[in-house]
Amino acid sequence: MSDAFRALVLDQNDKKVTAEFRNLTTDDLPDGDVLVRVKWSTLNYKDGMILNGLGRLVRTYPHVPGVDFSGEVVSSSEARYKPGDEVVLTGWRVGEAHWGGYGQMARVKADWLVPLPEGLDAAQAMSIGTAGFTSMLAVMALEEQGISPKQDGEVLVTGAAGGVGSVAVSILSALGYRVAASTGRAETHAYLRDLGATTIIDRNELTDTSKPLLAERWIGAIDSVGSTTLAHVLSEMKYHGVVAACGLAGGADLPGTVIPFLLRGVRLIGIDSVMCPYATRIRAWERLAKELPIDQLNAATTKVALRDVMPWGEKILKGQIKGRLLIDVQ
Ligand code: NDP
Repeated sequence: MSDAFRALVLDQNDKKVTAEFRNLTTDDLPDGDVLVRVKWSTLNYKDGMILNGLGRLVRTYPHVPGVDFSGEVVSSSEARYKPGDEVVLTGWRVGEAHWGGYGQMARVKADWLVPLPEGLDAAQAMSIGTAGFTSMLAVMALEEQGISPKQDGEVLVTGAAGGVGSVAVSILSALGYRVAASTGRAETHAYLRDLGATTIIDRNELTDTSKPLLAERWIGAIDSVGSTTLAHVLSEMKYHGVVAACGLAGGADLPGTVIPFLLRGVRLIGIDSVMCPYATRIRAWERLAKELPIDQLNAATTKVALRDVMPWGEKILKGQIKGRLLIDVQ
């Protein structure tokens, strides 16, 4: 079977990455167990890097980007999936090492898919997408380390108006935590309060790394910024505070000291959504379906047609996207 479909295809000429929409057929798709009709994808920070040829994330061109998608199974050589099943894919280096969700058809390994969680439709699942899934993994990491809404204090979310940050603020607030949201954009303050933030912090207040310890402020933190922000946040953690490190929107370095670990027993937990094991994925999606307030998810979501995605890829790298970008692939 070789249905024709549209896809955004990246190519590389003279080390410059170019993008164009092409008509492909299913014969063009890479090998895999499951053929999926992609309905929705999203724009994550990593998609922005890939669309702009940054970070050497894509090594082989031509390439179809899109690190996540939701859609419907067309055919499957694996017994787990049958035509008509609704599925979700995040991670596994799809959209970077394998063709991704910016085409109307995708062929992938069955192991990379999860069934669409009960309680979410395909568009809602991608309004959450990789970024929101990562936020839930970060919340689960804080819980596993004993952080609880019963504790006295706030959980800090950095890069709060971005994709990971917005969903993290919303989940934490719904779970009963007091949430401090750090942002560099004054125009997002009302939006962050609507998502449940009780305190708003200017992100410029979180960059001083000159002292290894500062006054204790946070019981937990979810950081999507890295660099001086993460180093500063570590120095402000309360005794036995826990930081979930998710991202590097401000830089991949960590210019701090080990003093917060040694004198306050601070714990720094890494969050990886890409190779996350299946059982954890299922648990995270079940919780997202139950615990993320859908009205807040809607407020955090901007819908964009796939044909219009390119300028948004530049905006996300400049930190100019509020919340989540849902890409309409059909
Ligand atoms: P977004 O661009 O939507 O959000 C990032 C936010 O970080 C921005 O909105 C902005 O928030 C803040 N920010 C941007 N630049 C800077 C800067 N120079 N200094 C300080 N703050 C800055 O991206 P995503 O939410 O999609 O991703 C966030 C990060 O998480 C990325 O680094 C991404 O690669 C990573 N990530 C990691 C995953 C994992 O598995 N570990 C999975 C998904 C994402 P504001 O305007 O509020 O200040």
